[in-house]
Amino acid sequence: MSTDETAVSTVNNFLKNIIEEDLKSGKHDSVVTRFPPEPNGYLHIGHAKSICINFGLARDFGGRCHLRFDDTNPAKEEQEYIDSIMESVKWLGFDWGTHLYYASDNFEQLYQWAVYLIEQGKAYVDDLTADQIRAYRGTLTEPGTESPFRNRTVAENMDLFARMRSGEFPDGTHVLRGKIDMASPNINLRDPVLYRILNAPHPHVGDAWKIYPMYDFAHGQTDAIEGITHSICTLEFESHKPLYEWFLDNLPIPARPRQYEFARLNLTYTVMSKRKLQELVQQGIVSGWDDPRMPTLAGIRRRGYPSASVRNFCELIGVGRSDSWIDVSILEECVRSELNETAPRAMAVLRPVKLIIDNFPVGHTEEFQAANHPQKPEMGSRLIHFSRELWIDSDDFMETPSKGFHRLTVGGVVKLRCGYIITCTGVVKDSDGMIIELHCTYDPASREGIHTADGRKVKGVIHWVSADSAVTAEVRLFDRLFSDPNPDRGGADYKQFLNPNSVEVVTTCKLEASLALSAAETQFQFERQGYFCQDPDDSRPDALVFNRIVTLRDAWITKK
Ligand code: ATP
Ligand code: MG
Repeated sequence: MSTDETAVSTVNNFLKNIIEEDLKSGKHDSVVTRFPPEPNGYLHIGHAKSICINFGLARDFGGRCHLRFDDTNPAKEEQEYIDSIMESVKWLGFDWGTHLYYASDNFEQLYQWAVYLIEQGKAYVDDLTADQIRAYRGTLTEPGTESPFRNRTVAENMDLFARMRSGEFPDGTHVLRGKIDMASPNINLRDPVLYRILNAPHPHVGDAWKIYPMYDFAHGQTDAIEGITHSICTLEFESHKPLYEWFLDNLPIPARPRQYEFARLNLTYTVMSKRKLQELVQQGIVSGWDDPRMPTLAGIRRRGYPSASVRNFCELIGVGRSDSWIDVSILEECVRSELNETAPRAMAVLRPVKLIIDNFPVGHTEEFQAANHPQKPEMGSRLIHFSRELWIDSDDFMETPSKGFHRLTVGGVVKLRCGYIITCTGVVKDSDGMIIELHCTYDPASREGIHTADGRKVKGVIHWVSADSAVTAEVRLFDRLFSDPNPDRGGADYKQFLNPNSVEVVTTCKLEASLALSAAETQFQFERQGYFCQDPDDSRPDALVFNRIVTLRDAWITKK
């Protein structure tokens, strides 16, 4: 496994080069691309690469990109998926305008083209079963065997195909096949199936059809109908290209699209097959397609990844023609660098311990102005409360400090971020020896500085919230869903690589009051902790819930 950071500068532009050439030579005068998802699941980060390529090329060359549902298999397709796909493409920042299409809107035309092939003697109805067709297909080294039904007359084929359409036959009894070449070295050309019987309603065209075209028979022709100039797909379709072109060569299509392939995105610590993602949802291993640990765009969005960071990631990894792996830490780093610029800072205490400032008057409060971003005054500031009782993170105190620990310890001094310098004078423990309170004194002259009254520089700065105004929240500390870089590796069950610690729920966090008013998807940096955003969890209407989007630093570097 290797990462592919080098692809950025070298092969980034092979599709752009092709398009530039085609515009220069006059082959095309504008560019039309499409993003063609099958609505059989939610979109994932791999689809984001394809979306950014297709919509990005259209944008860069002043052309247009269609959103097309490749909806030829009603057995697996649902309206829920159609809706979520549109939502995700929009969220990523792309707009198909009026160019929303469904392959199924062309079913009548595709049917007529199938009839045309029959009339030309280039398609036939076959009665072999699916298993027989597979057995007759041959192998990479041996040619296939012709079906005994291959030489039916045109009239017989016309009659049977019409009856297939009318719903006379049960599923699996007949198929329409292209009559191409059972000895072709390319298995896709060995009389491919063009239509199968499926007595199933369709999410877009309802009960109108009893037969459905195969992906290969629909894709290129739909490209032609929509006037697609550059039909860009992933490398596994390379061996389908001769079939794609065979249809274009043998049908009276209105335009001549061309297929180009690029390498799909493979991301470490992730599975991307829709079948597996669906399994995670159905088996309740995750809470849904939009679980914040899922690599789906709905999950990533709910987790709090900004869409700009996903676009930047797609830009950074580039577009190549060789299969490679991208380390998920590159995506996480894109999220960090985007949020470092855009996320306002806030203070939150995830594992609180009470801190009492004994020389601060009871009932008195003060306010401090806290900058929302240390380098960006234009992002403004907010007022934060200071009172006699505060919450600090229990990690920021050690009774017997280890070497190099510069935070709070008995007798030690720290600066409260945006607040005073305090000195710890003692601890109170419960009967089990658990610390329940820290006692401190503060230096009223230390509002602005980081020096003690006797001139020593304070080494540690810690975050805190005022107990009189803090809000309690549940915080979900997410980590990678898998603990192995390649959970999909051949043979093994990917589920054995699930990370048992992919989420830790901390229920008693104390946040500065302003965070109670934040909206879902508004990202914050919780100082010294990481990036967080409110989770729109409908099942917890009266709880304030935050997701950890990403840690401040890559914790996996040290783990590895
Ligand atoms: P499945 O997981 O069932 O194989 P799929 O991910 O290929 O399905 P489609 O709906 O057919 O799903 O994909 C829509 C488009 O997204 C296709 O053009 C496909 O090539 C592209 N695509 C899918 N996965 C990736 C990926 N990992 N990287 C880049 N592009 C992808
Ligand atoms: Mg696919």
